Amino acid sequence: MLKEKEIQEVAIIGGGPAGLAASIYLSRYKVSHIIFATEIGGFMNETHKIENYPGFPSISGFELSQKMGEHTKSLGANIVAQEIEKVVKEGDNFKLITFNKEEFLAKKVIYAVGTISNKLGVPGEKELKGKGVSYCATCDGPFFKNKEAVVVGGGNSAAVAVFILAEHANKVTLIHRGDKPTCEPSYIDEMNANPKISLIPNANVVEINGEDRVESVTLDTEVDGSSAYKTDGVFIEIGSGPNTSLITDLNVDLSERGYIKVNPDQSTNVENFYAVGDISTNSNGFRQIITAGAEGAIAAIAIFEKNRKK
Ligand SMILES: Cc1cc2nc3c(=O)[nH]c(=O)nc-3n(C[C@H](O)[C@H](O)[C@H](O)COP(=O)(O)OP(=O)(O)OC[C@H]3O[C@@H](n4cnc5c(N)ncnc54)[C@H](O)[C@@H]3O)c2cc1C
Repeated sequence: MLKEKEIQEVAIIGGGPAGLAASIYLSRYKVSHIIFATEIGGFMNETHKIENYPGFPSISGFELSQKMGEHTKSLGANIVAQEIEKVVKEGDNFKLITFNKEEFLAKKVIYAVGTISNKLGVPGEKELKGKGVSYCATCDGPFFKNKEAVVVGGGNSAAVAVFILAEHANKVTLIHRGDKPTCEPSYIDEMNANPKISLIPNANVVEINGEDRVESVTLDTEVDGSSAYKTDGVFIEIGSGPNTSLITDLNVDLSERGYIKVNPDQSTNVENFYAVGDISTNSNGFRQIITAGAEGAIAAIAIFEKNRKK
């Protein structure tokens, strides 16, 4: 059992592929550590099918998450299912404060929290979140059996959300702001070929309406003579951005776009603070499972080497 005030050698924040790979390598190097993660797998859980991860020609994101989680646990990783609210310095250590106001100390941190979904910022979005407004089709799609849903966005994530929802819902509408969605052209062909899927181009959602649940969205254009479009759910897929709200007190160097600037060994300008995966500027800005895992592994070996030289 973990003692709250025990000083951990390494605390990993995040249980996506970056955090899990870091843990796997740290376990094998016998560097003691804990992982804070409320959800094992991170963004992989939002991925319908993964077809570019070596060794798995086609695997669901959920299954790959489970496999990575099991692998990590099999090596004895200590996973604490708590979300960290804040990280601050306390002497030479880092103090990690959870949303439950518990405090943990660690000598080193591997920050692997990934990115967070962008918000539309329209009236009704916050109020109806979890009541029909969602940012994860994989997680919430099954609740839309025999219902109608709209997806807002035009990129690959939006297209994937449409396909996931079309497996459950009666009708799925993609609302996108341009003439054509910006996703891969083959996705557009696939959408056009599916009778359950329709597209509304050149439109923005300006309000989400409903009392206890989503009932409709208001568009800035008219469809069949009305700007109100009836729906049971709104899936917002308009990209994501770096999640650095936890570490504002640490003065970690960020890129212009807010990602954490890292050195080749994933260290940052703050001694003993490493950043890995989608949150970092490494891997040439390519944000994938394989690059996230690689960065986790690189941080782990950097820490092992640093400890060995002491
Ligand atoms: C729809 C979609 C499809 C994709 N398809 C593919 C694909 O086919 N192939 C591919 O290689 N990549 C794909 N990606 C990208 C891939 O999923 C990401 O690059 C990868 O998951 C990033 O890993 P990560 O560990 O950096 O972050 P994430 O996977 O985002 O994991 C972050 C982790 O941090 C945890 N966390 C966040 N905040 C806190 C906190 N405050 N306290 C504690 N824990 C916290 C989260 O719960 C989560 O466990 C896709 C992404 C999306 C959104």
